[in-house]
Amino acid sequence: MTGANPEQVLVIGGGLAALAAAISARRAGARVTMLEAAPRELRGGNTRHSRNLRIAHDGPTARIPGIYREEEYLADLAKASDGRNDAHLSQRFVHASTDLPDWLAAQGVVFQTRGIPYSRKTAFFLGGGTAAVNALYATAERVGVRILYDAQADGVDLETGAAGPFRPRATVLACGGAQAAMQAASPRLINRGTPYALGEILRAALAQGAQAVGDADAAHLVAVDARSPSADGGIVTRVDGMEYGMAVDARGARFTDETAVTGPTRYATWGRLIAALPEQRATLVLDADGIDRAPLSVFPPLEAPTLADLAARIGADAATLEASAREAGRVTRPPFFAFPIRPGITFTCQGLRVDETARVIRGDGSPCANIFAAGMIMAPNILGTGYVAGGGMTVGAVFGRIAGEEAACHALA
Ligand SMILES: Cc1cc2nc3c(=O)[nH]c(=O)nc-3n(C[C@H](O)[C@H](O)[C@H](O)COP(=O)(O)OP(=O)(O)OC[C@H]3O[C@@H](n4cnc5c(N)ncnc54)[C@H](O)[C@@H]3O)c2cc1C
Repeated sequence: MTGANPEQVLVIGGGLAALAAAISARRAGARVTMLEAAPRELRGGNTRHSRNLRIAHDGPTARIPGIYREEEYLADLAKASDGRNDAHLSQRFVHASTDLPDWLAAQGVVFQTRGIPYSRKTAFFLGGGTAAVNALYATAERVGVRILYDAQADGVDLETGAAGPFRPRATVLACGGAQAAMQAASPRLINRGTPYALGEILRAALAQGAQAVGDADAAHLVAVDARSPSADGGIVTRVDGMEYGMAVDARGARFTDETAVTGPTRYATWGRLIAALPEQRATLVLDADGIDRAPLSVFPPLEAPTLADLAARIGADAATLEASAREAGRVTRPPFFAFPIRPGITFTCQGLRVDETARVIRGDGSPCANIFAAGMIMAPNILGTGYVAGGGMTVGAVFGRIAGEEAACHALA
C-alpha cells in the first residue's frame, strides 16, 4: 500500500457500496482512492455473488414487471425488520431506489430483461453480480478512481478519517459485513460470501465510540450443503426441496413440518432452524421420487438402497430415521438419497448508525465530520436484523451514491 497520491476521498471496500461511492465522489470532482482488500481476481466482495436488487416503481419497465410502490416497499421493510428500522432513513432509501436502475445502467451495468423468474420487486443483473462488479470497476477506472488491490485497511481514525498511510479529507467505510469473522469464531457455520469480510473496520469504529445498530450475534443464514467451501461458495451451494422429502437432525429425527416452510423466505427459515439444532447440522433425505422433484444440486447426493444403510452413511440412528420416514410419509421408495446441510452465513447484522447524509453517528448522537458509511456496514439502519430479497444490493448502491457525493462535497468545500 502506498500513500503517494494525495486523495481527497478514501473509499474502504471493493463491492457495490464502495464502487457506487467511489464513482459518485469522482464524478463530483474529488480525487478518489479505493482500497480493496481482495486481490483483483477476487474483487467485489459479496456483490460478486448477488443477482438482483429491490426497486420501487409505479409501473412496469423493461427491467421490472408489475408495480411495487414506495409504500409497499416501506411496509415490507418495517415487517422484515420487526419495526426496528430507521423509518426516516428507510423512506429516503426507498425513494432513492426508484432511479437506481437508470443510474447503474449509466455506469455500465446491464440488466436482464428476458428469461428471468417473475419478480415485480426486483431487477436482475445480466450475468449476475460478477458482471455488474466488472462493469463498475471498468467505469471507476475510466473516470479516474485510483484502485488498490490487496489493500486491506486495518483501522480508521474516526476523528480525522486517516487510515494507515492515507490522509484523506473524507473517508467512506464500505467494506461489507463481518461474515468471515463470524465463520472463524463458529466453524460449524459456512461463509457463503467473501473471506475478506473480517469486520475490522466496524470493530475499529465501534471501539472509538461510533453508535452500533443491529445485533452482533445475528446473521442472515440459509441452508447450504455441508460440503461447501468454508467461504465464497456463493448461491449454488444452497439446499432446497425439503418439502419433497424430510429434514432430519444428527440423530435422524425430524424437527419441523417441511411442507409448512414455503415461499421466498424458506431459505432463511431453514438456515435459522438448522443453526438452532444442538449440532448445527441436518440432512435432507429424499426417496426415488423426491430426488426427481427436488431442484438440482451442485453436489451429488449420498445414495443407499435402504434407510438403514443411509443412516449409517450420515451417522444417524437407523430406527430413528425409519420412524421419521414413516411419520413424514414422503420417503418410501428406494433408493434413498441424502444431502448434508449446515447453516451458511449470507451477511452479519451489526452495523454503524448513519444519518441521511450517510455520516457515521457517534454514541452521543453527533455525526462524524468526514466519515461516511455505505452498504452492509450500515444496512441494519434499513433492514434491522431481518432481510428483504434484493435489499442488500439496493442499500449498497443507494448509500454508496449518497456517501460518495457527500464525501466529495465535504472534501471539496
Ligand atoms: C451468495 C450470496 C448471494 C447474495 N445475493 C444477493 C442478491 O441477489 N441481492 C441482494 O440484494 N443481496 C444479495 N446478497 C447480499 C449482498 O451481496 C450484500 O448485501 C452486498 O454485497 C453488500 O455490499 P457491500 O458493498 O456493502 O459489501 P460487499 O459486496 O461484501 O463488499 C465488501 C468489500 O469490502 C472489502 N473489504 C472488507 N474489509 C476490508 C478492509 N478492511 N479494507 C479494504 N477492503 C475491505 C471486501 O474485499 C469487499 O470487496 C448475497 C450475498 C451472498 C453471500
